[in-house]
Amino acid sequence: MSAEYLAQFYRNHEAVQPRGRNMYLPNFEKDLKAMQEFFGLEVTGKLDTNTVEVMKKPRCGVTDLARYGHFDGNPRWRQSVLTYRITEYTLKLSRSEVDATIAKAFKMYSDVIPLDFKQIYSGTADIMILFKAGYHGDREPFDGPGNVLAHASPPGPEIGGDTHFDEDEKWTLSQQGVNLLLVAAHEFGHALGLDHSKDRSALMFPNYQYVNTNGYKLPQDDRLGVQALYGVRRSTGKPEPKPEPNPDPGLSNAPEPCNPDLVFDAATRIWGELYYWKKRYYSGLSQHKISSLWPSIDSVDAAYTLNDETTAFLFKGQQYWGVIDGTILPGYPQPISNFGFFPSVKKIDAAVYVAYTDETLFFVGIKYWSYNGWTGILDFPKRIQDNFPGIGSRVDAAFENGGYLYFSNGAWQFEYDFRAKRVNRVLMNYGWLDCY
Ligand SMILES: [Zn+2]
Ligand SMILES: [Zn+2]
Repeated sequence: MSAEYLAQFYRNHEAVQPRGRNMYLPNFEKDLKAMQEFFGLEVTGKLDTNTVEVMKKPRCGVTDLARYGHFDGNPRWRQSVLTYRITEYTLKLSRSEVDATIAKAFKMYSDVIPLDFKQIYSGTADIMILFKAGYHGDREPFDGPGNVLAHASPPGPEIGGDTHFDEDEKWTLSQQGVNLLLVAAHEFGHALGLDHSKDRSALMFPNYQYVNTNGYKLPQDDRLGVQALYGVRRSTGKPEPKPEPNPDPGLSNAPEPCNPDLVFDAATRIWGELYYWKKRYYSGLSQHKISSLWPSIDSVDAAYTLNDETTAFLFKGQQYWGVIDGTILPGYPQPISNFGFFPSVKKIDAAVYVAYTDETLFFVGIKYWSYNGWTGILDFPKRIQDNFPGIGSRVDAAFENGGYLYFSNGAWQFEYDFRAKRVNRVLMNYGWLDCY
């Protein structure tokens, strides 16, 4: 069963080069390692007891892609009201129980994103729902009781968003059998554009795990994922008062870190911790609030650290500072012309050191420049859109973390795979902060 499991759920993981044949050649050990990594098991490439245990668990039928978060190309719905229709009901629950549970599962999403769901009873809905065993009209027939419980397609026309439940499961509203609310909410996550998550507390974790559904709300990881696609639902009622501009540049001007609209001026990693700058303040991303005023530098446009993560370079206008442990090094500020920038460059929007190529990228308007620290050569500027597809035309702040680059553009942020040259998922800046 293990080879089948890997072929079914890990076939997309870096398929080995086909040798003259246009088909996928399974690489058992490689696929097994990918699966072990996804589930946080010890990566042995061998079928140990823990690995087999995980494979036996009931689960969702959507493939575990090597990247969690969103589907390729970040598909999402563009309308503000989505319709759904249940064409075939389960015989294990009453129709009104199914209707109420499906509505409740959608409400977990409409509570946190500005999207509404409406049930219709005839015609074609955006999301078509059915309960059926075995073959049910698509290329992925169900497999009897256990194992695959349900599956759903990402947003799109035709089958996009459609959600199928295996009628061979014992659907319940309790802890017994398979809880319909939990599985439906997971599948609707796919139907809205969420891929599987490695976070065990997430609804989008691929294996079924019962949790008490009384007052159950969308877990944080899923909420951030879906808000990154659709934005945040503002509380209805009275509009929020606009903050008055404060002429006093004192503490009252500190930005609210948990505002979903949070924009970073600059961000980088120092001593393994992520920091961001906003106005005169900087803060560790894992901390609750903006903690400190940065000494003597008024505000920061861009920041980067080299591989050693100890010396930070901070940019403001046409000057930059070298800083270690919050102390400005002697001899600074220096002019950015040291790097070779033309005098027409008045400020740097963002900077990031890329260990993979050993170069520093500087973002200025719609262009970026790459600087090689060894040769001291600053390359001619190139258009951001041409070489970083999917991140937009401008970058406000950039940093590296866990081998990925993170590019902020307004309140949004793109997790970018430099080697594959593609966006893995969309985030919001404030999602890094511990705001819940
Ligand atoms: Zn799933
Ligand atoms: Zn199906």
